[in-house]
Amino acid sequence: MTTAYALLGRGYDVTVIDRQRYPAMETSFANGGQLSASNAEVWNRWATVWHGILDMTNAASPLLVNPSPSWHKYSWFAEFIAAIPRYRANTIATTAMAIRARQLLFNIAEREKIDFGLERRGILHLYNERTAFEHGLEVSRLLKEGGLERRAVTSAEMRSIEPALTHDYYGGIFTPDDATGDIHRFTRGLAAACTARGARFLQEAEVKELRHTGSRLEIALNLGPHGDIHDEQVTADGIVICAGVGSRALAAQLGDRVNIYPVKGYSITVNLPDEASQKAAPWVSLMDDTVKIVSSRLAPDQLRVAGTAEFNGYNYDIRADRIEPLVDWVRRETKDRDKEAKSTGAEGAGNLRMAHCASAVEGAKTAIKDTKEGVLVTITGPADKVAEIRARAKHTADVAKKPDATKVTHTGEGTGGGGVGRCPIVVEGDTTVDVKEIEGGVEVDVKSKKDPAALQKEAKARAANFAAAK
Ligand SMILES: Cc1cc2nc3c(=O)[nH]c(=O)nc-3n(C[C@H](O)[C@H](O)[C@H](O)COP(=O)(O)OP(=O)(O)OC[C@H]3O[C@@H](n4cnc5c(N)ncnc54)[C@H](O)[C@@H]3O)c2cc1C
Repeated sequence: MTTAYALLGRGYDVTVIDRQRYPAMETSFANGGQLSASNAEVWNRWATVWHGILDMTNAASPLLVNPSPSWHKYSWFAEFIAAIPRYRANTIATTAMAIRARQLLFNIAEREKIDFGLERRGILHLYNERTAFEHGLEVSRLLKEGGLERRAVTSAEMRSIEPALTHDYYGGIFTPDDATGDIHRFTRGLAAACTARGARFLQEAEVKELRHTGSRLEIALNLGPHGDIHDEQVTADGIVICAGVGSRALAAQLGDRVNIYPVKGYSITVNLPDEASQKAAPWVSLMDDTVKIVSSRLAPDQLRVAGTAEFNGYNYDIRADRIEPLVDWVRRETKDRDKEAKSTGAEGAGNLRMAHCASAVEGAKTAIKDTKEGVLVTITGPADKVAEIRARAKHTADVAKKPDATKVTHTGEGTGGGGVGRCPIVVEGDTTVDVKEIEGGVEVDVKSKKDPAALQKEAKARAANFAAAK
């Protein structure tokens, strides 16, 4: 539709041919809603390839590849891999293009007064792990070369950017200039604007064949909801093929190679009928990097959640096991924070909640002792859990070393923010964390230069929360 609009603006007579009854009924019906430049990193990395191979049998994986052979799929994969050496240059170029496209979209919406739930509140990338966060920081440097500014934020800052966030994250990256909107409403609004500017629409018209006569193009159409009413032919001086995943077949008829391979994704739209649900849902758009799921607030009573890429050919099946991760994500991310604060411990440890807290390991015991500069946290557990306790404590020490772990303050109430916000090893403000392995677990020396007393209070309150929950 944007192409039709641009052609009208250049003075062409435009006819839009679409096999659906109305515009925007396929991919542009219900996407993730993000109008982003912050997602301009191209996928052409070895990490994506390994991920695709290793997760082939995991239905819940964000990236699922059906290995059944098809020439198109494997030739496309070969080209995907061949483009890996251009990862850097292509990411920078895509960023510049995305910034320009985003601005054009804003301009069109404003000029044509299209109401599509535009929210210019930015996009927040969420990271649960250090390696992913550090990769995000590297990507930020490339995006910057493409002209995009985004900044790293702590878990506490993330909650001030989006108060509906209920979890502690390793860190986040915020892009204030990104936005969200309902692409279906945008496209339908733009179709109305194109009609007003003189465009002709042929809906329920499937292009069957394209022929070039030397001077003109002949377009053979099947009309009707199933291409079954009658055939018709239209002619044109020129055509632009914008048929989504159908573009490859159409372009091939004219000798052009448009190597688009379909990547299927899923989205759900969550209705928020009451005040409690509206409060629990985020307004700032989120991109959860671990599970590659995005959310966008399309309206006060509507949240769009999308994700899960599937390489499975031209396949329109809707699989329950691919939608489940989206539904689970909403459940997990919108839980009541107060309730959550009291339900610390092992129950949340397996599904990203408290997944890095040593005290949350099943059967772990936590003791707090004041020191001159803070606290000594001793965490011990059953023999088969000691390795996990040590690994988590070490992870927490890594969190404390992250670049901007210094901007949050202790509340002294056991609820303060920070990388691991309910863990008795407090990672906030100016704390430093040193882990020593002892028999049966770890001894963690947590120090605060500025306010050891607040740190002591916070650590004890959190440990008491754990004891009460277990
Ligand atoms: C789950 C998911 C989430 C996404 N999230 C985002 C996001 O947050 N932000 C973002 O920017 N992008 C997102 N995308 C991508 C974005 O939605 C698509 O790139 C965009 O919608 C594609 O628009 P299009 O007009 O090219 O294709 P489509 O919207 O698919 O339109 C193509 C049209 O061509 C018609 N057509 C095809 N073949 C023929 C034929 N032979 N004859 C007649 N008509 C034909 C189709 O019927 C269709 O109407 C997402 C995609 C998915 C799947």
